[in-house]
Amino acid sequence: MIIPHSRPMVGAVEARAVASVIGSSLLAQSEKVMEFERMFAEFIGVKGAVAVNSGTAALHLALLGLGIGRGDEVIVPSFVCTALVNAVRYTGADVRVVDVVEQDGNISPEATAGAINKKTKAIIVPHMFGYPADLRDLLALGVPIIEDCAHSVGAKYASRIVGSFGILSVFSFYATKMMTTGEGGMVVSNNVNLLKKIKGLREYDNNKRYALRYNYKTTDFQAAMGIVQLRKLPDMILKRKRIASLYNKGLEDCPISLPLETKGTSPVYYRYVIKSRRKNAFIDYLRQRGICCASPVFIPLHKYVNQDRCPVTERLMREAVSIPIYPSLKRSQVNIVIDTIRGFYGRS
Ligand SMILES: *Cc1c(COP(=O)(O)O)cnc(C)c1O
Repeated sequence: MIIPHSRPMVGAVEARAVASVIGSSLLAQSEKVMEFERMFAEFIGVKGAVAVNSGTAALHLALLGLGIGRGDEVIVPSFVCTALVNAVRYTGADVRVVDVVEQDGNISPEATAGAINKKTKAIIVPHMFGYPADLRDLLALGVPIIEDCAHSVGAKYASRIVGSFGILSVFSFYATKMMTTGEGGMVVSNNVNLLKKIKGLREYDNNKRYALRYNYKTTDFQAAMGIVQLRKLPDMILKRKRIASLYNKGLEDCPISLPLETKGTSPVYYRYVIKSRRKNAFIDYLRQRGICCASPVFIPLHKYVNQDRCPVTERLMREAVSIPIYPSLKRSQVNIVIDTIRGFYGRS
């Protein structure tokens, strides 16, 4: 039996919620979308939320909300997916890629400080793999922060859920994320003017004079699914945490580094990323035994956009392996993963 790398936890409740929207004939930008936005804003603890059709769209609208465009620079970390570069480039602004910290792969406040100049208009801060970034040091830099919570919905920093620290925060509900609507995204903020502007940009049909707008709207069946997933989220996070603690115990004496929780944070274990000196052999060995592991980042952004070297990112690219973790992973499967990794390292 194959143990996949990731798996959404969806089923009969989501199916019923989606079916009832289809039965209602109110398919898009209707009550369910507004209900999802209200619930989501309440969960994060912010004044409002705008639902969109992807995390990338959420990033694009957040940048436009801040008035970012040609001639501006936006700082992004190197160890993350290319969606960040695309969103910045949609606006015409330039990306400036900086290195990350070794422990959790999050953006380095020191490297960020060194990259700030007169053109810098924002920093996009992903909380990688569900581990909150160093928000205190990043906020102290005095540049607007867009939190990218695509991995980290429900994670806490200083006892508060992430997504309310930045001026704007974005989320993704793509199939492999913490909670899913198939595709989907959300922008949240405490700034009602920004929310209003972003809501306006989301649809093309509410301007009297010509201005560039987008169609980033989502559907009511996705929202209905999102509502169910948000209700399930605390339980799904708990299940991920339980699996992480089984891995922590079971792999403790193997010659790999395990993910560490930074003091004052509560990660949600979107990914369980270990570091192995024998990454490729490790992935092959597990794959041959039916366990799917993955590189958590496919291409480092500094290479993608041809910028300066990022030594920490390059080390992580060589060593980081994401092993299966998701709410529906059974305890017996967790034990198989642990035993197989122990086997790879010759431990019984
Ligand atoms: C998935 C992801 C995105 C993009 O979200 P989509 O919904 O796939 O467009 C952006 N940032 C991070 C950190 C992500 O993991």
